[in-house]
Amino acid sequence: MHNNVQMEAPVIVEDVTDNVPSDIPSSRPLVPLVEVAAEERQRAIISSQKDDDARSDGVELANEDHDDEPAADGSISDAAVAELEASMYGLQIIRNADLEELRELGSGTFGTVYHGKWRGTDVAIKRIKKSCFAGRSSEQEKLTKDFWREAQILSKLHHPNVVAFYGVVPDGTGGTLATVTEFMVNGSLRNVLLRKDRLLDRRKKLIIAMDAAFGMEYLHSKSIVHFDLKCDNLLVNLRDPQRPICKVGDFGLSRIKRNTLVSGGVRGTLPWMAPELLNGSSSRVSEKVDVFSFGIALWEILTGEEPYANMHCGAIIGGIVNNTLRPPIPKNCEPEWRQLMEQCWSADPDIRPSFTEVTDRLRAMSSTLQAKGQSQGNK
Ligand code: ADP
Ligand code: MG
Repeated sequence: MHNNVQMEAPVIVEDVTDNVPSDIPSSRPLVPLVEVAAEERQRAIISSQKDDDARSDGVELANEDHDDEPAADGSISDAAVAELEASMYGLQIIRNADLEELRELGSGTFGTVYHGKWRGTDVAIKRIKKSCFAGRSSEQEKLTKDFWREAQILSKLHHPNVVAFYGVVPDGTGGTLATVTEFMVNGSLRNVLLRKDRLLDRRKKLIIAMDAAFGMEYLHSKSIVHFDLKCDNLLVNLRDPQRPICKVGDFGLSRIKRNTLVSGGVRGTLPWMAPELLNGSSSRVSEKVDVFSFGIALWEILTGEEPYANMHCGAIIGGIVNNTLRPPIPKNCEPEWRQLMEQCWSADPDIRPSFTEVTDRLRAMSSTLQAKGQSQGNK
């Protein structure tokens, strides 16, 4: 897999690429290193909301629970702080004792995802690595903030194509934090493309692409930009052989869009990152970065392959920025799918369609396919 490819020192295209460490694989997300003023304002808004929420929800939750006695030295335990934070954000608290871990599903930079049971029912548990929280370095504080940001964003989203959030676990073993979400039986779409490629016919690929686009249309309607859309972060359930289900997951890098400016920093995973994220034109960064990523995801769904699997980091950055690099489209690709992909990964964000347009076009393709199927069936 392309994760194994260790990248060489990247070419310096613009100063933002200085942030790319020389040894990271291109499939690992680049986390933002520059926080912009807009985000600082957003944080200020969230913290003032926090105070309001604390007044409305805090009392009830504080009364509910008497487990968290102060530690022997009089300080409040990490779990108690986390619990307070959760109640301030209005997040449901799930007790570690009510969770059972069954199997590890995946492990990333920030933690490990498990299939587990919450009082007997299937859930996914995402535990943040303990090392991320040991000590008090600014990097660890940032990871803690990212954890709460992901939980807060997820908790506000309610859509059939966005993974459902159940709550946070403030009292994990060794002071770890965890989120509990809906369990998707077949894991990531990347998993499925790797193992079960032949099982996905055109109809199913179209349904999966439509589901992902519906989820993204909803996110953008809520002014959430995902920033890390790819088949690794799309989750699937293929139990019904007629109707695959796909949902958007992993909101670790997502941000709430304020005004027009989204970010001044670099984030995402290289092959899925729009040129404006890599060439320093941060004023052009908008929700359209997700549409670019979706174009690459459409190619993954079509081919089952990983983009630029054998290329090095530097060459990928250079190629995307120069707009000389896009995944090769197979000859037998239907023209509508090709046009949609190409328009999604246009260099110019204004040429990329909105997700509303993407869903319309995918729906039209689906109707055509159905009509064809019926006429063939009638022959
Ligand atoms: P990260 O990429 O930050 O490590 P993700 O949320 O993308 O975290 O999860 C990592 C992997 O764990 C996914 O690619 C997927 O294979 C699996 N996974 C995550 N959430 C779920 C879920 N709700 N149901 C099933 N599998 C999941
Ligand atoms: Mg992920």
